[in-house]
Amino acid sequence: SIIAEGIVRRRSLEMRNKQQYWHESMEGQKMQEFRRSLPSFKERDALLNLISRNQVVVVSGETGCGKTTQLPQYILESEIEAVRGAACSIICTQPRRISAMSVSERVAAERGEKIGESVGYKVRLEGMKGRDTRLLFCTTGILLRRLLVDRNLKGVTHVIVDEIHERGMNEDFLLIVLKDLLPRRPELRLILMSATLNAELFSSYFDGAPTIHIPGFTHPVRSHFLENILEKTGYRLTPYNQIDNYGQDKMWKMQKQTLRKRKTQIASVVEEALMTADYRDYGPRARESLSCWNPDSIGFNLIEHVLCHISRNERPGAVLVFMTGWDDINTLKDQLQAHPLLGDPSKVLLLACHGSMASAEQKLIFDKPEDGVRKIVLATNMAETSITINDVVFVVDCGKAKETSYDALNNTPCLLPSWISKASARQRRGRAGRVQPGECYHLYPRCVHDAFADYQLPELLRTPLQSLCLQIKSLQLGSISDFLSKALQSPEPLSVQNAIDYLKMIGALDENENLTVLGHNLSMLPVEPKLGKMLIFGSIFNCLDPIMTIVAGLSVRDPFLMPFDKKDLAESAKAQFSARDFSDHLALVRAFEGWKNAEREQNGYEYCWRNFLSAQTLKAIDSLKKQFFHLLKDSGLVENVERCNTWSRDEHLIRAVICAGLFPGICSVVNKEKSISLKTMEDGSVLLHSNSVNAQEARIPFPWLLFNEKIKVNSVFLRDSTGVSDSVVLLFGGKVSRGGLDGHMKMLGGYLEFFMNPELAGTYHCIKRELDELIQK
Ligand code: ADP
Ligand code: MG
Repeated sequence: SIIAEGIVRRRSLEMRNKQQYWHESMEGQKMQEFRRSLPSFKERDALLNLISRNQVVVVSGETGCGKTTQLPQYILESEIEAVRGAACSIICTQPRRISAMSVSERVAAERGEKIGESVGYKVRLEGMKGRDTRLLFCTTGILLRRLLVDRNLKGVTHVIVDEIHERGMNEDFLLIVLKDLLPRRPELRLILMSATLNAELFSSYFDGAPTIHIPGFTHPVRSHFLENILEKTGYRLTPYNQIDNYGQDKMWKMQKQTLRKRKTQIASVVEEALMTADYRDYGPRARESLSCWNPDSIGFNLIEHVLCHISRNERPGAVLVFMTGWDDINTLKDQLQAHPLLGDPSKVLLLACHGSMASAEQKLIFDKPEDGVRKIVLATNMAETSITINDVVFVVDCGKAKETSYDALNNTPCLLPSWISKASARQRRGRAGRVQPGECYHLYPRCVHDAFADYQLPELLRTPLQSLCLQIKSLQLGSISDFLSKALQSPEPLSVQNAIDYLKMIGALDENENLTVLGHNLSMLPVEPKLGKMLIFGSIFNCLDPIMTIVAGLSVRDPFLMPFDKKDLAESAKAQFSARDFSDHLALVRAFEGWKNAEREQNGYEYCWRNFLSAQTLKAIDSLKKQFFHLLKDSGLVENVERCNTWSRDEHLIRAVICAGLFPGICSVVNKEKSISLKTMEDGSVLLHSNSVNAQEARIPFPWLLFNEKIKVNSVFLRDSTGVSDSVVLLFGGKVSRGGLDGHMKMLGGYLEFFMNPELAGTYHCIKRELDELIQK
């Protein structure tokens, strides 16, 4: 070990020399000068001092003051200066992949290095990390995965959890795990970083850990609310009582009804605002919005109008537009591109910003455009805190963010664009004052703003907890309920119970809440338990490739594009892939395979364009599949690579494997004279989402539809579905006691043990035939 120490010391000395060399170089000095100008620099010594003396420190400061890029770097530099560089290991978590990647690139550049030297990153599917990497930016999920195999974070000296104010589920979860770990690792340092001022909450959670605030400097930003905007830009809204179009009218009523249901204080105020201030453009899009899971009250024409106003009349400076989601961003981008001024590339550089974009595209967002060109960036709420675009002078804030919530009573997730919090609105506004005084256009009346909640509800309290509970078990953290009761804010007992029941039902936990073999395998796969189960069954039954396509598709996003103005064309393009076999999942497989063939002939883009598919999504699916394959092979679930696709053309078997995963996500089908009645156990009647291939059918010749996603938007909609027969449900529907089904299950002696033998894959067909006959009787 003396030799090892010697090596570490020599490497540390090399690191120090290299750092000194950079700091003394011309470029290095310029960079240092910039870094010293950031507000965090003044606190550098105080920060380092506090960290050296306390195990946990909470740091808060305005966005842009230099928390993310500087603080981890201060720690790294001071370790290097103390000739401990090669012995330290700093992990800084980010809630999103894009920030982990862009921040690590920035920090490497500030250190005059390429990424992968002393600074690296790791996110799902991608990473840049070398032998000498001492500061690693990763997503919170990656650190949680590491904890699975390395419970004490051996060798790690500092953990920095960034953006904790967002209260994401993973971050809240990580905090419980770390709190538990700290006594076992007394020398480990934990630093929590937060943008807004609720630092006390975190400090008291860690037994009064010291907090330090970095006073920031931002230029003043002027707020314009809807009423001022209308006045200033001369935009006219149609009063509510003049809308007579049925679709619009219906939509308004629904919106009001939902609001009334929520019975929150905000409802009446918003309702009133909606009555008086109409967003005219809401109307024409109402029906589409409803069918596209995307009811939102942003007037696209209003945004266009405001952007025009800025481009024509205001001083130079980039514009940042906050939208609710990716669909909206794409639709708006298409609309703006057709505009004579905003679509003119010599005057406007129009960019979209989202979590999974390529780095080349990302760079454009940070770069300054040419003189005379105005940069307009359309972004989701991730541009609120995690990424900083410096030249933004104007912010357009639609006031909404797509937020998942969870109805524990019906065990149904809901996805609704909802009003943001005051904290978010302040944050959005602040993005305009980075380099000079800015302007913020809030596209809602001031009274609506005043009724916003102060902070957003933490994600842990508004999402299903299945994956999280599985993780708690695989991390050996004891009883699920006990563990979750230690959270900053604990989820409702009913939500926890739902998740535990679910995991028991799919066979991931046994009666005593212990992890089963299946559960253990599921926890190693980076997808939801039900999708993991599908992968495992796909391996066992040797129909792996199409199953991997389906699982990747369901966990990335739908590659089928449904542009509003070409919805009919897009729908018929998708219907071709379905070939009337009543399955969105099989349609996905065919579309993907068609794309792979087209790619081989260098025709990928044309193929996507013709068939309304997103090439980017298909590529993401492709690389995720590769990762699945490696994981399944490494874990021994795929034993024989040649055989794992023997049955991949067998559509019946694929349906069965889909059932093994998605059950109990199932609804019964009764074909009526003029309509089809669909029911699930929890929700009663449900509807099919219009993008589903089954939505166009007058009759569905299957007694059951399986679905991956249902969501409540006024009514409950099934987003995707696949028809299956009774026997498939009986054989693959998991251990569920539902009257008659249970008897058959017992007869089969437990499906899982039975089918765990790959040799039996062929036997499935015989059994199915027998069962079909049995049911006929
Ligand atoms: P915080 O985490 O406190 O919000 P950051 O550390 O992300 O702040 O950013 C500090 C400053 O570093 C920003 O104000 C910006 O000036 C600069 N900066 C950050 N990222 C980049 C980048 N990719 N390119 C250029 N400058 C950047
Ligand atoms: Mg930051």
